[in-house]
Amino acid sequence: DVLSITDSTNSQLMQRLQQGESLPAGQVLVSEAQTAGRGRHGRQWFSPFAASLSFSMVWQLEQGIQAAMGLSLVIGVAVAELLENDYQLAVQLKWPNDVYWTGKKLAGILIELSGQSDGRCQLVIGIGINVQLPPQQAAQSISQPWTDLATAVGTLDRNRLVARLQASCTRHLERFEQTGFAAFQAEFNRRQLYPQQAVRLTQGQQVIRGICHGVDAQGNLVLEQQGKKLAFHGGELSLRAE
Ligand code: ATP
Repeated sequence: DVLSITDSTNSQLMQRLQQGESLPAGQVLVSEAQTAGRGRHGRQWFSPFAASLSFSMVWQLEQGIQAAMGLSLVIGVAVAELLENDYQLAVQLKWPNDVYWTGKKLAGILIELSGQSDGRCQLVIGIGINVQLPPQQAAQSISQPWTDLATAVGTLDRNRLVARLQASCTRHLERFEQTGFAAFQAEFNRRQLYPQQAVRLTQGQQVIRGICHGVDAQGNLVLEQQGKKLAFHGGELSLRAE
């Protein structure tokens, strides 16, 4: 489905699923603009008219929610591969859910669980890609360095991008279901944003500092502290460079 404006493509699909509508895995909703685009923890995602791509897709995992760990990393790899192959754009991935180019945020990923039954879980996978943001408005709405595809690759065909995104996500998700995250570990790590760099991981007031070693075979973030490697996971964590 294609909308010209909506609150949030993820919210729309989540509502439809929670009202009992049966939507097949792979069903996609895109919108030209979102009035209430969301990031993690209720943060706002700036997605004004025709300036960004708001893409959401329904998916089902046979293995239940435990298997969903690492899913946002797999989607990050799917987006990165697409941008590399189709637009010769080398991007970096920031654990757990962001796509960067030249140190600035180009796209974000938001995965939400809509329900579980019979050991399976139903998810909505959201991807927001900046296409050509209005700089002044963006400066007021985004609290960190950002970039867009117009800067990185120039003008592009949005319809083609949507079709390729759907294909790339589907292909990676099917592979993920067969192999689990381990098969994607190296693909994530070779694109990680802070390889061997000093970083800090924050959770509310709590701050953990260390050297970033990418992710382990389960998709946990690995930090080295005083020669010891520790693995972290959990939705509330945010990674930043020191
Ligand atoms: P984390 O590292 O925890 O993911 P984050 O700041 O990247 O932190 P997200 O929830 O992924 O958090 O995204 C929301 C944040 O992204 C907002 O707080 C805002 O600073 C920034 N943001 C909002 N819209 C955009 C956009 N179109 N492009 C780039 N960044 C954006």
